[in-house]
Amino acid sequence: MKVAIVGAGSAGMTAAYNFLKHKDIQADIYEKGKDIETRTRNEVMEGFGGAGAYSDGKLTLTTEYGGWLTDYMPEDELEKLIDEADDMWKNLSEVLETESGFNYETTKDLEYQCSRHKLKLIPAKIRHMGTDNCLLFVKRISAMIKQSDNIKLHCESPVTDLIVEGGEVKGIVVLENGEEVKKYYDKVILGVGRSGNGWMQDIVRKYGIENGINPVDIGIRVEVPRSVTDSFTDNLYEFKIKYYTSEFEDEVRTFCVNPGGFISVEKNTGGLLTVNGHSYKNKKSDNTNFALLVSTKFTEPFDEPVQYGRYIANLANLLSGNNVIVQRYGDFIRGRRSTESRIRKNFVVPTLKTALPGDLSFVLPYRYLHNLKETIEQLDKVMPGMADPNTLMYGVEVKFYSVRIKIDSKMRCASLDNLYCTGDGAGITRGIIQASVSGLVAAKDIIENK
Ligand SMILES: Cc1cc2nc3c(=O)[nH]c(=O)nc-3n(C[C@H](O)[C@H](O)[C@H](O)COP(=O)(O)OP(=O)(O)OC[C@H]3O[C@@H](n4cnc5c(N)ncnc54)[C@H](O)[C@@H]3O)c2cc1C
Repeated sequence: MKVAIVGAGSAGMTAAYNFLKHKDIQADIYEKGKDIETRTRNEVMEGFGGAGAYSDGKLTLTTEYGGWLTDYMPEDELEKLIDEADDMWKNLSEVLETESGFNYETTKDLEYQCSRHKLKLIPAKIRHMGTDNCLLFVKRISAMIKQSDNIKLHCESPVTDLIVEGGEVKGIVVLENGEEVKKYYDKVILGVGRSGNGWMQDIVRKYGIENGINPVDIGIRVEVPRSVTDSFTDNLYEFKIKYYTSEFEDEVRTFCVNPGGFISVEKNTGGLLTVNGHSYKNKKSDNTNFALLVSTKFTEPFDEPVQYGRYIANLANLLSGNNVIVQRYGDFIRGRRSTESRIRKNFVVPTLKTALPGDLSFVLPYRYLHNLKETIEQLDKVMPGMADPNTLMYGVEVKFYSVRIKIDSKMRCASLDNLYCTGDGAGITRGIIQASVSGLVAAKDIIENK
């Protein structure tokens, strides 16, 4: 049996790992980026290891977020698969068993406090790998693949097309030394991640692959003194809180919490700048930052959420002279822009020095502004100080997701035979662990039916 794996991110690596001991499966991995030995930290999204390779590797061991795999399988089945994927990450790195987990009693208490204010705290075990362990994992799995005699890795080999005949996928077209070469396979696993979003959309259009529309998450990054969030982050590291706003009944969620972290600028395709945040293991700031995102799912006839998100981010870049905007919460409430001098006197010292003081109300539609204000006021009830005038808001943060490919519980594409669609690129996951699980499920199905 010959299998092609397109993309060597969490999904592709996991699928390959599971083929290692099945010598009757010959698998080729095609990765458009560089190998892990030659890839640099600036190549964030592409290369062996995928988008997670240089992240600080927070493995979210829950069915509740990091993807939508519960739409395809029962929760208890997914829980078992998450444990299996987690074992792989744990065994191939040097992360300690004791590093995960949280205090059950304290978490219950925090959940209770939140529930009094319509805030849903979603407790989850997080295995914080750290960048070092994450890289160690990627390097070890790469070495295992290179030593194996049934799996071959082809880096800097972008796949440009599929070979489709009579509703069946027969192989792939890959760019080799500037030439498009056809390669035939029994099964193809796509795991192209967010960086393969554009290519995936082309494939969807070309072959009429059934798909749905994913939401687009638009919002801001909030920065507060660490003391405001410590009661949560000391116990949970990352708090995941969902709130349904009263006026619009929209879902607003906290995302990517960085205690002692730093705000950063993310460069997207086409030079678009959005806000992000990260944290170091050994270098800590006095602040905590996290994203506050409003999820919007458009209905007919509009089907381009990614374009909508880009439009909003573009507006922020336009008004700030190709920069991101920072605004004091106090200025936002008073309907005035923040200025250099107001930011200089602000109690919370911004960790991103280059952001331009401005006014986010010129950028975000009323619906988003209202949702964000309402959520900050609610969060203030469980984390006093959140709605202080000195709180900083950076804009905009946007999370783009790929088109959601219609698949079954084994990750098999509903429209084309022999094709498996996994990970972030299929629009079904948005985190390392669930992406790994989707690769694991595809590999298991191929192994069982070989
Ligand atoms: C900075 C950053 C930090 C993150 N931190 C975390 C975290 O702490 N915890 C967490 O759970 N998640 C985190 N994520 C998200 C996580 O990295 C992704 O959800 C996960 O990597 C998705 O895995 P994947 O295999 O679907 O795609 P990816 O990891 O994106 O891999 C896809 C691979 O496919 C390749 N590819 C694309 N198109 C083609 C093509 N046409 N031909 C060949 N190859 C192709 C790409 O080069 C890429 O290497 C982070 C993401 C980023 C960007």
